[in-house]
Amino acid sequence: MNAPSTIVTPSTSCWNCSAETGGAPFCPACGKIQPLAQGADFFSFFGLPHKLSLNLETLEQRFHSLSWKLHPDHFARATESERQHSLDQSSQLNDAYRTLRDPVGRVEYLLSLQGMRKEGQKKQQAPPELLEEVFELNESLDELREARASGESAQMPQLRAKLEAAQHKFESSLADVDLELAKVSSDWDAALDAGADEAAKKKLMERMNEVLNRRSYIRNLVNGVRQELAA
Ligand SMILES: [Zn+2]
Repeated sequence: MNAPSTIVTPSTSCWNCSAETGGAPFCPACGKIQPLAQGADFFSFFGLPHKLSLNLETLEQRFHSLSWKLHPDHFARATESERQHSLDQSSQLNDAYRTLRDPVGRVEYLLSLQGMRKEGQKKQQAPPELLEEVFELNESLDELREARASGESAQMPQLRAKLEAAQHKFESSLADVDLELAKVSSDWDAALDAGADEAAKKKLMERMNEVLNRRSYIRNLVNGVRQELAA
């Protein structure tokens, strides 16, 4: 027996035929457009489980087929409320697709559904293993800005080279973090398949949240250096 997931797929019945729609934009029984289900989430919109690995090709096919079915031309003779539903569902479709096709956005979304996405007060703190590099980076950035402000160009090539090296270093840290995120994502899917209990799932979500925070810290560093080098 699988433990019930904390994420509950909305139970919704069709306004036309009372069949269960599962949060889908069209009734599976009579095909009528549905209002946006209360508490509808992006996964159930596409009829997907709350898993983190998904087939991008399938997602894209569903996106195109739904875009086509939701096209305003198909609702030219529909009632006013059906037309409104189709507009609401179209905008949900675009948000859902944009979010789920991105592996990082997908994890963030899953956590936010559970109220588990916490940016944390420690957001501005460097991950311990990068403390030294971050310190050096900030020094180099200061030196570069000072050199720029005082019009001293002699030091510039050396400073730029140092910053470029730092940029590569942090880019490779970012790639490591992405691998870690992929690993914890597949652990999550395995836990769902195994019917893991809430405590185990919560632990995994805390891990994902921690990895996401580290990722956004490093990404900000990389972007900062990139901007400074382009200035
Ligand atoms: Zn129906």
